Parts: sequence; C-alpha cells; structure tokens
Amino acid sequence: MSEWFTEKLHRDFAQSLRIEKLHYDSKTEHQRLRVFQNPTFGRILTLDDVVQTTEGDNFIYHEMMSHVPILAHGAARRVLIIGGGDGGMAREVLRHASVEHVTMVEIDAGVIEFSKKYLPNLSQGAFDDPRLELVIADGAQFIRETEGGFDVIIVDSTDPIGPGEVLFTDTFYGHARRALAPGGILVTQNGVPFLQGQELTNTMRAFKALFADWTCYIATIPTYAGGPMAFGWGTDGEARKVDLETLKARHAAAGLACDYYTPEVHLAAFALPGYIQRLLP
Ligand code: SAM
Repeated sequence: MSEWFTEKLHRDFAQSLRIEKLHYDSKTEHQRLRVFQNPTFGRILTLDDVVQTTEGDNFIYHEMMSHVPILAHGAARRVLIIGGGDGGMAREVLRHASVEHVTMVEIDAGVIEFSKKYLPNLSQGAFDDPRLELVIADGAQFIRETEGGFDVIIVDSTDPIGPGEVLFTDTFYGHARRALAPGGILVTQNGVPFLQGQELTNTMRAFKALFADWTCYIATIPTYAGGPMAFGWGTDGEARKVDLETLKARHAAAGLACDYYTPEVHLAAFALPGYIQRLLP
C-alpha cells in the first residue's frame, strides 16, 4: 500500500500525489515543509500541505514567469524576486547574461536551506551566482522600504493564505509599482482561475487602478491542477506590444535553451479564454 499526499487547497476539489519516498517533513519557522519523491514528477516541495514546485513540471512556471517579462522588456538589468525560496525562479532569471543584479526576498530561510539540500535540481547553482543577493524578510515590508529601480519584479509567492496573504493586497501592489524603474514590469502568480477566480479578479482590479497596461497571461502546469494558471502583468511601458520578430531576436541573443517558452508561446499566452476574460474588471 503506498501513501498518498492530498492537497486540499480548494473547498470542493483535491488532488493526490503518490509518495514513493518521504525525504523530509518538518516545520520551519513559518510553515510545514515536506519534500517527497513521486515517480512521475520527481521530488515535490509542499508548504502547509500545498504543492509549491516539482522537479518534473517547474520549468513551465519558472520559464513563463521570468522569460516573458525579461524578453518583453528587452533591457532588464535589475530584477526583484519576491518569494522564490526553491531557487527555480532565480535559476531562470540568471540565465540572462544581461541581468546584472537579482534581489530575492524570501520570508522563510528554511525553504532556501531545505531546497538547497533536497532540491538541488531546482536552483542548479543559482544560489552561488555572485549576481544574486538574498534577503530574508517579508516581501511586503521590503517593498515598502526599498528605493526600487527594478526593471522586472516577479512575485513567486505561495497562495493568499498564511505568510503569502500580504503579497495579494492593493497596498503591496501599489508599493511594487513604485519600486519599478520607468518601463518596468510586475508579474505575479495568481493561481488557477477556474478554481480561484476571485483571487485573479481582486489582483486585476488593483492593477487596473495602478497601471497603464494591465492584464494576465496563462500557462498550464500539471500540478497546479484545475486548468491554466494566471500570471498578473502590470506596467506603464509598452513591453506587451513587442512583436514576434523582436522576441525571436532577443530569445536567440539570450541563448536560452527552454523546454516550454518560445516567442510564439509568449505572445499566445496573452490570448485569454472567455471565462478568464470575464474575471477581469
Ligand atoms: N510556485 C509556487 C506556487 O504557486 O505554488 C510558489 C513557490 S514557493 C517558492 C513561494 C515562496 O514564497 C515560499 O518559499 C514562501 O516562503 C515565500 N513567501 C510566502 N510569503 C512571503 C512573504 N510575505 N514574503 C516573502 N516570501 C514569501
């Protein structure tokens, strides 16, 4: 009899993943952290019993939250990651040689410590990159106090429960906008709209009040079950108007070997199905 992990993030819908081997189960200062092995997805990180990332499918999430804003921007030198403790987002951001400095603000040092040990495939050495500055702090407090000047801000957060809740407030989004350099782009993880529609609507309402250009884009990630996941997009610049030829040239120049991102997928990700369009204010 094998054991199963059951995620109960949603009221009426649960997903289960077989635990082939439990590598770690403990409480950090902030959250319950588990790492277990699944034959299909490889090692899986859960926080407070919600799947955060897996070795198998994290490439979709991390490539789409990093390469879309960075290649749309075209000249991003300073990037801020809020959350991101598993190191997968830093890994993808740092693939861009044009990025000179990455600040990563993670509230839970335990996530970084255990990810380095049990999920080295996630960060793939990103924590040793001299361009990465790690700050252990609440992202909401950091963004309130930072001088800013970031070309891209990526909110790689947990869902709006527990320590991640503050990262979904209008106040946080307002401070994030102020922390962007001119033409800078904010992207946020906004859950699976089919199951977490209100979460997307709330963020989009805040973005509408703050940004000249606001929307969301989507990608389907198997372990964020329930259909495509939405990523919030907010900027006062023109980056969304980037055309296919420009993206192809930037993608080639960056020398990225991607498993999900392509310039065509980049542009297509902004085409929203009707039920998601209707969640936008
Ligand atoms: N991709 C995942 C998902 O959508 O399920 C989330 C990735 S996980 C790396 C998110 C990280 O955000 C966790 O390491 C968590 O500790 C961190 N986090 C949560 N609240 C935070 C806060 N207020 N400030 C900074 N980091 C926070």
